Amino acid sequence: MKKQVAVSILALSLGLFPFQTTQAAWDSPTLSAVSNGLDAFWGGILTRLGIRYTYPMVYSHRNIELTPCGPSLLAHYCSDSNTIHLNMVQMDKLVERVGDSAGFFSLAHEYGHSVQKHLGILDKNLPIVVLELQADCLAGAFFAATDELGILEPGDLKEGAMTAMMTGDYDYEHTHHHGTPEQRGRAFLSGFNDPKSCFQ
Ligand SMILES: [Zn+2]
Repeated sequence: MKKQVAVSILALSLGLFPFQTTQAAWDSPTLSAVSNGLDAFWGGILTRLGIRYTYPMVYSHRNIELTPCGPSLLAHYCSDSNTIHLNMVQMDKLVERVGDSAGFFSLAHEYGHSVQKHLGILDKNLPIVVLELQADCLAGAFFAATDELGILEPGDLKEGAMTAMMTGDYDYEHTHHHGTPEQRGRAFLSGFNDPKSCFQ
C-alpha cells in the first residue's frame, strides 16, 4: 500500500485530491501512515454515527512481550486498554511471504476490533468467530477506501485476502475458532465489495 494513505484519506475527508504516489513499503513510516489513515477513516465514520472514536494506540514489539491481554505473538487487540500489539518479527516474516498488504490487513483487522468496541459489539458476548469475521470484513471496508483513493496497488487486495485465509482454521470445536480460511477470505472481500455487508 502506498505511503501517503493517511494524507489521502485526510484529503478525502476534506474533499481534496490525493497527493503524489510513492513506492510500496512495509516500514515504520508507512505503518504509521496507514495507522493514521485508519484513524481518519474510522474516526470519520464513527463521528457521523455520533460516536467519538478514541484511536487505538499501536505498539510494535520486537520480542514476545506481555501486553495487557497476553503475549505479543503475532497481532492482537486489547479491548480494555484500546491498544493494538504487533509482533514485528512475525509481521516481517508474513510480509516477506505474502507482501506489504499482509501487514496492513493485520493492522486493519485489529482496528476492526477497536471499531467493534466503540459500537458496543464487543459487549454483546458474541461467539469469537462472528467477531473475527466482522473484523475481516471491516478490514476489507478500509481496503475499499484506499482503492477509491487510488492508493491500493495491484496485488494488495489479493495479499489481504490471502492473509485472511492463512489465518483461518478448522477448529470448529475450539472457542478460539476464527473462521475457516474460506470464510475469512470471503468476509474480507465482502467488506471490500460492500462495506455495509459487515453489519448485516
Ligand atoms: Zn481478530
